[in-house]
Amino acid sequence: MRPDVLEQAVRNDSTEGRKPFAVVATIGTTSTTSVDPVPEIGAICRRHHIWLHVDGAYAGMAAAIPEYRWIMDGFEYVDSYVTNPHKWLFTPIDASLFFVRSEQQLRQAFSIIPEYLTTSVQGTAIDFMNYGPQLGRRFRSLKLWFVMRMFGRDGLTNRLREHIRLARLFQSFIESNRNFEIMAPVPFSVVCFRINPPDKLLSESELEQVNTRLMDMVNATGKVYISHTKLNGRYTLRFAVGNIRTTENHIRAAWEVIRECAEQI
Ligand SMILES: *Cc1c(COP(=O)(O)O)cnc(C)c1O
Repeated sequence: MRPDVLEQAVRNDSTEGRKPFAVVATIGTTSTTSVDPVPEIGAICRRHHIWLHVDGAYAGMAAAIPEYRWIMDGFEYVDSYVTNPHKWLFTPIDASLFFVRSEQQLRQAFSIIPEYLTTSVQGTAIDFMNYGPQLGRRFRSLKLWFVMRMFGRDGLTNRLREHIRLARLFQSFIESNRNFEIMAPVPFSVVCFRINPPDKLLSESELEQVNTRLMDMVNATGKVYISHTKLNGRYTLRFAVGNIRTTENHIRAAWEVIRECAEQI
């Protein structure tokens, strides 16, 4: 998200009589894991009294690593924030963490207490039914508690750090082969890449065909599973490291599979 474009959009809305009330910034976008400039976006939201929500579904967990703490820069402006331990904190799906600055506003939005739900402990215990549309809910936090107790803070951060190292290693394999190219910066543990032999001068639609074939062929081996996206119209493959059991051997083996399939194509 570009702050200058956001600022202009807010101004345009205001002059046309509309009132923007919420902005959603992302830390770790789904396609490329890019990071929006939250401090600049936050300052704009504060000036115009706009609710700022941050989506850190996948990459938010990186903030547990001291060197990655910067991804929470600008959080003094943030009204609500979500990050999902089921994405990159080894917790079985589903477990999403929701943080909100004003607990009271959330309660005002969702609280409906019919007579049969009133109890004598009203106001003394946190009643999660007042914070969302659901009344009946599972004890999702328990499995996260077990994960945190099992690995501990250092255990978790070391594993996250290792995943980032493995992604960088895969990136270096791509960069060392002239028939492949990196399609986006690699801030976390996802690598965007594709095959693009320089001497073939393939068009964008040919590249899409070739890379679709590569993805299908790699996935059909049953050894590696890669996915795809489009970046500014350019077909792109995605390699994501996030499983707790993934080791350097897997990364090397995956690269061998991808390289062999590419050679056949
Ligand atoms: C995966 C993802 C989501 C969706 O999360 P769910 O828990 O499946 O709803 C939202 N935003 C981003 C940036 C994601 O990567």
